[in-house]
Amino acid sequence: MPSILSDYESGKILEVNDQILSISDKTNEDFFNLKRSDIYPKKAIIELDKNLKANKNNASTETFILNKEGNKVEVEINSELIIEDDKKYLLDTLCVKENKQVYPSDTDQEIEKLIRESEIKYKTLFESANDAIFLLKDNSIIEFNSKALQMFACSGEELIDKKPYQLSPEFQPDGGSSIDLVIEKNTRALEGKPQFFEWQHTRFDDLLFDAEVSLNSISINNETYILAIVRDVSKRKKDEAELKHNEALFRSLVEESLVGVYIIQDGKFPYVNPRLAEIFGYKPEEIISILEVKDFVLEEDRKKVEENINKRLSGNFQTLNYSFRGLKKDNSLVDIEVMGSFTIFNGRPAVIGTLLDATQRSKNDKEIKKLSRAVEQSPASIIITDTYGNIEYVNSKFTEITGYSFDEVIGKNPRIFRYGDTPKSYYENLWKTIKSGEEWHGEFLNKKKNGELFWEFASISPVKDNDGRIINFLAVKEDITNRKNIEEELRIAKDKAEEMNQLKSAFLANMSHELRTPMVAVLGYSEILKNEISSPDLRDMAIEIYESSRRFMNTLNLILDLSRIESNKEVMNLVEVDIVTVVKEEFEFFKNLARRKNLQIITDLPEKPIITLLDERMLRQVISNVTSNAIKFTNKGSVSLSIKWVTEESGKEYFIIKISDTGIGIPKHNQSIIFDAFRQVSEGLNRTFEGSGLGLTVSKKFVEMMNGQIDFESEFEKGSMFTIKIPVTRRLGIQPINLDPSQMKIEFPENIGKNITQLLLVEDDQSNAGVIKFFLENMYLIDTVPTGEEAVTKAEAKKYTAVLMDIDLGTGMSGLEAARKIKKIPGYENTPIIAVTALAMRGDREKFLSEGCTHYISKPFKKENLIHTIKEAIEGAK
Ligand code: ADP
Repeated sequence: MPSILSDYESGKILEVNDQILSISDKTNEDFFNLKRSDIYPKKAIIELDKNLKANKNNASTETFILNKEGNKVEVEINSELIIEDDKKYLLDTLCVKENKQVYPSDTDQEIEKLIRESEIKYKTLFESANDAIFLLKDNSIIEFNSKALQMFACSGEELIDKKPYQLSPEFQPDGGSSIDLVIEKNTRALEGKPQFFEWQHTRFDDLLFDAEVSLNSISINNETYILAIVRDVSKRKKDEAELKHNEALFRSLVEESLVGVYIIQDGKFPYVNPRLAEIFGYKPEEIISILEVKDFVLEEDRKKVEENINKRLSGNFQTLNYSFRGLKKDNSLVDIEVMGSFTIFNGRPAVIGTLLDATQRSKNDKEIKKLSRAVEQSPASIIITDTYGNIEYVNSKFTEITGYSFDEVIGKNPRIFRYGDTPKSYYENLWKTIKSGEEWHGEFLNKKKNGELFWEFASISPVKDNDGRIINFLAVKEDITNRKNIEEELRIAKDKAEEMNQLKSAFLANMSHELRTPMVAVLGYSEILKNEISSPDLRDMAIEIYESSRRFMNTLNLILDLSRIESNKEVMNLVEVDIVTVVKEEFEFFKNLARRKNLQIITDLPEKPIITLLDERMLRQVISNVTSNAIKFTNKGSVSLSIKWVTEESGKEYFIIKISDTGIGIPKHNQSIIFDAFRQVSEGLNRTFEGSGLGLTVSKKFVEMMNGQIDFESEFEKGSMFTIKIPVTRRLGIQPINLDPSQMKIEFPENIGKNITQLLLVEDDQSNAGVIKFFLENMYLIDTVPTGEEAVTKAEAKKYTAVLMDIDLGTGMSGLEAARKIKKIPGYENTPIIAVTALAMRGDREKFLSEGCTHYISKPFKKENLIHTIKEAIEGAK
């Protein structure tokens, strides 16, 4: 029996027997290159496969094969599945059913051959077509080519008898039901209307693909079929979609571009993008194919633009880049920068290009140019570094100062200029500050290229971009070497001045002591003499000596006061005083002087005392200065004093002292100078009045220190009136003392303490001791010793009521030490020790009071002041 052995999986023929060769049209060699499907009709293969699957390993079908003459030989094929070594084989046994072999005539043979050739040709055409081809009968697939299997990813068995909508999704992309559509289209085709349409198919692996389908009805042997040709167009569709997408992308790129895009042909624009229209103030449709290129160009630039367009159209210059002044719709100008190239548009030469509105950029360029010129020509030296501190820019001032050229320092770190031993922390702080975004200021000692040192004051700040990131550091530096030198000179001068000031203070202290000590004798003895001498002439001389020495003391005190005020060393010593008593006392001191000048003295004083806190010495000094001026500058008439206590509406209390005279007055043009130090109305060698020009200066300062004010009114040759206004202040919680003036007056009987009060006077200057003894003679018993040592011995031997202690006792024990020792003697703990000294500089009084003495009076003193102090001391100790 004719048999064929083939591989089950691939269908490849492995072996054939001789019988098969006798009934088949193929040779042995042919078979080995063929598959089963090449010799049996497709339908038979499908049938066998189906039966094999159903019966496991046996199947049979009736079909035909072609013999050598090309005739069909009806056969029954029995297929058996053989499994050997895990491999599957098919053994087909062919049983020839009816041998139709006839021996045809030559003509018949010829015709048969032609038919066979034609069949092979069509079969080849059918099989090698690139489209899937189906033959449909009654809407079912009955024949198909191998491309169909490939396109739908299935086997022939799966495809046979299928209906086209079974190879389609339920719905087509347009929403139509696949079944309905298939039926509709088939019906139409059968009506003789060929159908051509797009369709979506489903492969057997469920993938969808787009296809183009054509349906035609054909008639074979009087039977009507539909021939369906399916072309897979999914790749084309994909390409089309991609093309569409790309086109949309490029279109939006051009349409939404921030630069103007244009095509120029025949002097007009076949295309402009919206941005181009916007730059010129138009809409694209107003330009395209309507306006000419020259409508957009300022007349002066038209020639240039035209030339450039022609150059590009000639094709000789591929791309040209230039600028011109554009003309907008509203006739305003716009700076345009253009870049165009040669192109072919609609088959003819054209220019395609882009253009920019460069107006802002030109403006920015100008701005940048201006700023960079400012930096370049700045009188300060400027360095710009990157964020690591490497120099990127220096201006010419930098080069001028340091001697380093631009190229020598670019890329270098500014630390190359450093000099000296500035601590590391200084630079660390600098970096910390600028890296945190802050500005840093400071000084550097740097070295020039020639080795010379120079000082710089630098402001270093970070430069930030729009997002706030630091991109550079900017150092603006000023050469401060000169300033530094001047500062150094100033420092030296200041040290020197301070040294001189100390010398001056020491000198003043010395002079004060040295001048005061002899004045005790002069003032004291002249005071004694003027009272004691009976001869009028001699008495006048004594008075003259007394007055002159008072004047001398006055000037000395003023100079010392002023120097203390000016060095801010004047300290206020606030005590509660009755200003009526103090002012009256001080004013009346000048009574004698007034009398001698035949001047009338008028006083208008309140009946009640005005108690306030102030510096008594300052107040006395002010009254004394103003009164002495009034008498000095008045030759006839009167000098008056009035004191008033006023309460303002605000409740503030003041006392107002007015001292007026009928003297020479102060001319208007001199009124502004009289409070200035050393200034007088009559100045120069031929001045008519004596005086230092300091009295009012010091008075004003003292009054102001007591929160008050001093003013004056004056009329030339009529007189002057000085007004002193000082607030009344009290210690907190103490009510104003409102005593009867008679009660206020503290009377000290002249002979108080006589016989019982013994004083110890410690004084090394004999004339001073003499004056003191003379002043106190009738009131106290006085023992005098010249040294501290003797004072201590005396005090140990005898109990004195009080001790008058000179402080500067020459070479031995000082007065202070003696005072401290005496304090320690039993019974002396509370004994007053009064410092009587010419050491009258600022702080002396406080020093003596804190270091052993209980009271203080400075030399020279007036008799009544000395007596008053002693009495107060003794009273206080009781
Ligand atoms: P001194 O009186 O020592 O010259 P002052 O500072 O006390 O210095 O006064 C400055 C000047 O003011 C006086 O020299 C004088 O010209 C003028 N002066 C002050 N008081 C009067 C006054 N009562 N009448 C006229 N001139 C006065």
